[in-house]
Amino acid sequence: MIESGALARDILIRDGRVSALVEPGAASAGDEIDASGLLAMPGAVDAHVHFNDPGRADWEGWPSGSRAAAAGGTTTVIDMPLNSLPPVLDGGSFDAKRAAAERGSLVDFALWGGITGADDAALRELADRGAVGVKGFMCDSGVPEFSSIPDDQLEAALRAAASAGLLVALHAEDDTLLRDATRAAQVAGRRDAAAWADSRPPLVEVRAVARAYAAARDAGARLHVVHLSSREALGAIGAARRDGVDISVETCPHYLVFDRDDVSRLGAILKCAPPLRDRANRDALWNAVSDGRIDLVASDHSPCPSDLKRRGAGDIFAAWGGVAGVQSLLVTLFTEAVLRSGGSLDTRKIAGFVAWRVSTKPARRFGLWPRKGNLAVGADADVVLLDPDPEWTLDVEDSLTRGLSPYVGRAFRGRVVRTIVRGRTIFADGRVVAEGGGRFVARSA
Ligand SMILES: [Zn+2]
Repeated sequence: MIESGALARDILIRDGRVSALVEPGAASAGDEIDASGLLAMPGAVDAHVHFNDPGRADWEGWPSGSRAAAAGGTTTVIDMPLNSLPPVLDGGSFDAKRAAAERGSLVDFALWGGITGADDAALRELADRGAVGVKGFMCDSGVPEFSSIPDDQLEAALRAAASAGLLVALHAEDDTLLRDATRAAQVAGRRDAAAWADSRPPLVEVRAVARAYAAARDAGARLHVVHLSSREALGAIGAARRDGVDISVETCPHYLVFDRDDVSRLGAILKCAPPLRDRANRDALWNAVSDGRIDLVASDHSPCPSDLKRRGAGDIFAAWGGVAGVQSLLVTLFTEAVLRSGGSLDTRKIAGFVAWRVSTKPARRFGLWPRKGNLAVGADADVVLLDPDPEWTLDVEDSLTRGLSPYVGRAFRGRVVRTIVRGRTIFADGRVVAEGGGRFVARSA
């Protein structure tokens, strides 16, 4: 028996799809899974991962990254165009990324293209191949081969993306402001972990979001703001919506459960851009996830070799910025929702809320719904079975990413006991039980 939403239902799967949802025991099947006491959710659709493969597979890679995803109940990842080599900026590099993923991924995958300017031909190639959209930077991307969109070309780039039918995901940090604040911190001799957040204050994000939405409004572009970090920027998002801009926004688990004190305690493992902020900011972001001002939560999984983190011990500016979180997306959100409800909410309702934010909303926004993010007849049978009760800690040997995870040693409530992609079990009882087989999913709307 499986709990689907608030109801007990048996889920029937045929040829990789959900073929029926029926009263418990009303049908039989050749192969039955007893899910008594478990919650069935549509597998997570992680809209923001960097698996860096081809090119930097030693940082992560499709086999390792997708195994970590499977262990966390993620059945589809949407991979970012940068940190892999070549970056995905046209049809040829898109094909290379797709081929690497088809060779190595255990979970299904969709792909972001990249945008660095108004290159109409390249954008059309990406759109024709089914990219979910294109990602661009308003500041330095962190890697030399992926340029930011110059300030004076932002509107033209957004216009070109709109005419190719592509949504634009923006890393919204104002380049001028953050360079000024970074210089000030470094001139003051700061190298400590807290200097990172001080070098990228909330205004850096607010100003970028405000400018991006004004440009998107004039260009008629659809916008997605990735990894929103500051409560101050929620105001600019609200203004964009009131202005009629088609805008969505994500935040990441690390902004919801860690703060700048954790960066001082744990160091560069939690260095990311934009940076972690204070406790009150965490609460404000959580409230925005709860009431829908933040549409969805994605991991922004961006690991690196451990020495690129360790070099931050003496100088936070020298470390790679990125947090490894693909394995813990769903359970982090579930745990936090249970804690914040103070035990007052039914775990089935919490699972429904989590599924909406990490599965259904991203699938809808990025054109993968109703095939993904949807536990309904006709959809792909991507199912995660969650035991809502256990309290447990992530051990280092169970962390499957190649990178260092700040979630190792952390306590969780609720455990993924089985992950199913198109009817095929890929993770069960604490172990990855399959290899490869992940398929490309093109944007369908
Ligand atoms: Zn990212």
